Amino acid sequence: MTMLESYWRETAPRFAGGAADELPERAGCVVVGGGFTGLSAARSLALAGADVVLLEAGEICGEASGRNGGQCNNGLAGDLGALAGRLGIERARSLYRAFDDGVDLVETIVAEEGINCDFLRNGKLKLADKPEHGAKLARTAEYLAREVEPDLRLLSRAELADEIGSDQFHGGILFPRSASMHMGRFGAGLADAAVRHGARLYEHAGVTALVPLGGGRFRVTTARGTIVADQVLLATGASMRGPFGWLRRRIVPIGSFIIMTAPLDRNVAAQIMPGRRNCTTTRNIGNYFRLAADNRLIFGGRARFALSSPKSDMKSGAVLHADLARIFPAIRNMPIEFTWGGIVDMTADRLPRAGERNGLFFATGFSGHGTQMSVLMGDRMARVMGGETGANPLAGLDWPTVPGHFGTPWFLPIVGAYYRYQDWRH
Ligand SMILES: Cc1cc2nc3c(=O)[nH]c(=O)nc-3n(C[C@H](O)[C@H](O)[C@H](O)COP(=O)(O)OP(=O)(O)OC[C@H]3O[C@@H](n4cnc5c(N)ncnc54)[C@H](O)[C@@H]3O)c2cc1C
Repeated sequence: MTMLESYWRETAPRFAGGAADELPERAGCVVVGGGFTGLSAARSLALAGADVVLLEAGEICGEASGRNGGQCNNGLAGDLGALAGRLGIERARSLYRAFDDGVDLVETIVAEEGINCDFLRNGKLKLADKPEHGAKLARTAEYLAREVEPDLRLLSRAELADEIGSDQFHGGILFPRSASMHMGRFGAGLADAAVRHGARLYEHAGVTALVPLGGGRFRVTTARGTIVADQVLLATGASMRGPFGWLRRRIVPIGSFIIMTAPLDRNVAAQIMPGRRNCTTTRNIGNYFRLAADNRLIFGGRARFALSSPKSDMKSGAVLHADLARIFPAIRNMPIEFTWGGIVDMTADRLPRAGERNGLFFATGFSGHGTQMSVLMGDRMARVMGGETGANPLAGLDWPTVPGHFGTPWFLPIVGAYYRYQDWRH
């Protein structure tokens, strides 16, 4: 029987340091959202001596930060060449390096705060699903090695045998700087650290209204009362609730789904994933997978273009199980012990956005590639709020609305059909 819950949340201590008292009347900084972005911001603001209150609508790390694929990869979600064509190679390089900085910052926080979360630089493998994708990966590898990542390695189909026990792939790129960790234990450790440094974290305190009072101050109404803040940071991910219409017209919420097997026998694990890398595949509707420390296979993908709900997660789980059986027939009968889904905050160009608008600070849009950048951007926006105006690596990126999108993603089935057609053609 599969459990419809995130493995990370089920196998980590639940955060127990939430504030039980009434909301204070005032705070220097209010952070809205208790995922990695908000927690990292709260920690850094508190370390800088600010008076910080964090407001979370549900539970700490109850959304994407506690429901993801467990990969902490470097590199961009999108294509470096396309970005260089749009913004110039210098800016594209600096954005690529921001993701490196994100992985480095996660590693630093894990060490500084003593978080026991199995952080490991195990590297990422990008795997070619089709022979023609292999040729494209070779061109990409050459370009990335020249411009941003000289230590990456292009692997032929034959060389892949040392990395992965599947005959489904036609070459790959190994990104050695990428890492993995137990996301639940990292999130709980980050929240505990923020509290230790002086931040107050309020769960079940969803923000329902924000009234500007001038000079960056806001009256913030929540399910647990009202608070006046000198500064507000929105770290609300793919939020579909609260007064954030401006963000919602720029972010498309897309479901992503994950299944997880029972622990594999050590020899079987060594046979299917000898390299123990984080893997992602090249199809538009592709897969991501890796082994957990206890040898379970975590296997995810955008199985269906639907939002996450228990029924939707089950349907997507069945699609994912068929993909898993195709890639690793040897474990097709392993019990699936966890099935879950989450919502990705997708931007049109898959780059996150952060800055300040009408006195409100924000950091969001991590587009399914945010376990590292959310941590970096929380910290960087804390520094911006403290007066370090040059700290935001995403400053100045334009952010038009998604055409036809007014907050409810009615067009997801059409987008899904388009990508399935593209995967069939190429
Ligand atoms: C299924 C899945 C798989 C993924 N896999 C990976 C992966 O392997 N690698 C990777 O790098 N990235 C992955 N991601 C993305 C990554 O998890 C996110 O980019 C990252 O966790 C974003 O953190 P966040 O704090 O910005 O958002 P979240 O974790 O979503 O936190 C936002 C918080 O804001 C709260 N909130 C919203 N509205 C309000 C309100 N009105 N008032 C108060 N609080 C509010 C929410 O309850 C939520 O807790 C995945 C995402 C999903 C869903």
